[in-house]
Amino acid sequence: MYRAKRRGGGVSVYTPDPSRGPSVVTLESALNRALEREEFILHYQPQFDVPSGRLRGMEALLRWQHPELGLVPPSDFIPLAEVTGLIVPIGRWVIGEAARQAVAWSRRSPGLTMAVNLSARQFEQPDLIGDLRNILQASGLPAAQLELELTETMLMQAVEATGTLERLKDLGVRLAVDDFGTGYSNLAYLKHFPIDTLKIDQSFIQSLAGAGPNDPRDEALISAVIQLGHALNLKVLAEGVEQPAQLAFLEAQQCDQVQGYLLGRPAPAGSISAWLAAEPSRLADGGRGTPHP
Ligand code: C2E
Ligand code: MG
Ligand code: MG
Ligand code: MG
Repeated sequence: MYRAKRRGGGVSVYTPDPSRGPSVVTLESALNRALEREEFILHYQPQFDVPSGRLRGMEALLRWQHPELGLVPPSDFIPLAEVTGLIVPIGRWVIGEAARQAVAWSRRSPGLTMAVNLSARQFEQPDLIGDLRNILQASGLPAAQLELELTETMLMQAVEATGTLERLKDLGVRLAVDDFGTGYSNLAYLKHFPIDTLKIDQSFIQSLAGAGPNDPRDEALISAVIQLGHALNLKVLAEGVEQPAQLAFLEAQQCDQVQGYLLGRPAPAGSISAWLAAEPSRLADGGRGTPHP
């Protein structure tokens, strides 16, 4: 039901009801109220260094805890939040909440990185730097522990933009390219911009050692991206690692970091805290053991 659809430039939610004819319910006011009523929550997914297996950090992933619909995934409401601009206050809340949580977890896991996804609207917003400075100050999170995930498209647009990336870098936060390899981009941006991490998109990882016969071209692509990242002095993280064979390949190719269901699913802060308290912050058995959290 609540699936945002683009139509004529707007996004609406359609609740087809044959008896009353199709009614159009706009999500916009519901999203607005959600912010006031604190219905947004963050799940966190762990990221690990390989081969050490040490916890590297977390990625904060937004969900909407809707009173009737239950947990709504970001794909169902972020497009609308972007169109309406609501993603700006929502995104500000995300960064603040994630920063506070990172400080709390840092007591047990010093230096843990907190990665947050940034939308294009937030990135274009002139207050971004000031907001980030305030959040870092209020939470006490060292800037180097905050990693902002941007897409290739956002970086391409930043070519013409105002030095936002340089100002982010001056602030001391880390910058990651999310979903690397899926955008239409001119790789020259990698040379010009102060990026720290490449996140290889999960579609590449999943075609690796997947259900069907192995395609050596998948392996070639991934190992080329890892080498490219290393040649440019970047850390390379593989997203969407689900199978031990994928992890083994990534380790063999000297991929720096891994994230995926095999190693830990996104989970609410409480579950992650319990897991952190129980585990010595390491990837047990190189990830081939029990998946967690
Ligand atoms: P993303 O940043 O690329 O996040 C990775 C997505 O893959 C997450 O989906 C995560 O739950 C999922 N995932 C992680 N490991 C695996 C795996 O092993 N297998 C599979 N099949 N999936 C895996 P999620 O949480 O539904 O988020 C989807 C997208 O929504 C994110 O993609 C990101 O682009 C966006 N998003 C999430 N939170 C925020 C936010 O706070 N702000 C903004 N602007 N976008 C967000
Ligand atoms: Mg991401
Ligand atoms: Mg991604
Ligand atoms: Mg994505």
